[in-house]
Amino acid sequence: MRRFLSLTVVCVTLPFSIALGQDQSKIAQAESEYARIQGLVEAGALPRQALDDAADARDEARDEGVLRALLYGRVSIENLTEEQAREMVEAADRRLERKARRLEAAKRKLDAGVVPFTYLTPFLEDLDASRRVRELALARARLFEELVTMVRTEDNAEFAEEEADQDLPHMERFDGVGSFTTAQFQAISVAYEREFGRPLPVSARGETALHRAWGFDHRGRVDVALFPDSKEGRWLRKFLEALRITYLAFRAPRPGMATAAHIHIGEPSTRIRRAD
Ligand SMILES: [Zn+2]
Repeated sequence: MRRFLSLTVVCVTLPFSIALGQDQSKIAQAESEYARIQGLVEAGALPRQALDDAADARDEARDEGVLRALLYGRVSIENLTEEQAREMVEAADRRLERKARRLEAAKRKLDAGVVPFTYLTPFLEDLDASRRVRELALARARLFEELVTMVRTEDNAEFAEEEADQDLPHMERFDGVGSFTTAQFQAISVAYEREFGRPLPVSARGETALHRAWGFDHRGRVDVALFPDSKEGRWLRKFLEALRITYLAFRAPRPGMATAAHIHIGEPSTRIRRAD
C-alpha cells in the first residue's frame, strides 16, 4: 500500500526559544519602550506616529532575534525544524518590507524638500543589506527543503522497490557486511576529496531534527547529495561496494524531483514511530 506523508502532518511540538540572551533583552527593551509610548500617545502627549515607530522598532528587534538564531549559525541546518525554516524566511521578508517602507517615508521627506538628498543614503543601504539577508535566508531554506525531500524519499523507500519496472529503479540497495562506522565515513570523505578536489556533499550526517520529526532513527547513517548515476555518484557507489558498506541509492521518486536523489550510506533508517 502506498502511503505518503504530507508535510502538514509533521508537527514540531518542541517549544524553542529563538531569541536568546542579548536579543532577548533588546526585544524586552523594545517592548517596554512600546508600552511606554503607548501610554503617552493615549494621554495625548505624543502623536500617533510615535506609536507606529515604536511598533516598528519592536518588530525589527524580534525579527533580528529570529534571524540571528536561525540564519547566522546557532541552529545548524540539521537541527532546523520545518517551522523554524518558515519563520526564518518570514522574518527576512518582514524586514525587507519594513526597510522598503522606511525608504518610501524618507523619499516623501525628500520630495517635500525638508531633507537633503544624502538623507536617503542610509535607507538605501539598509534596504540593500536586508535584501542580501533575505537571499541568504532563501538559500538556507532551499538547502533545508532538499533535506525534507530526501527524508520524504526515504519514507517511500519500501514502495520504491515495488516499482522497479523501469530501466532505472527509484531505489537500489546494496547489502554490505557489518555496520557502517565513523572510521569508514572518514575514509570515504578523504578518498572522495582526493578524487574530486572538493568535499563530499553530505546533506545529513546522523540524526537530524527533521528525521526525528518524521519518525526515523537516522543515527549512524549519512545522506550524500549526489545523483546515483552522476560520475561522482557512480564513483561513491563503487567505493562503498568495494568496502562492502550497505547503502541505498535513491533516484527521484517522480521525474523532475531531482533534489530528492541521494545516496544513503548505512542500514535503512528504522522507524521510531509511525506517523499514522
Ligand atoms: Zn538517509
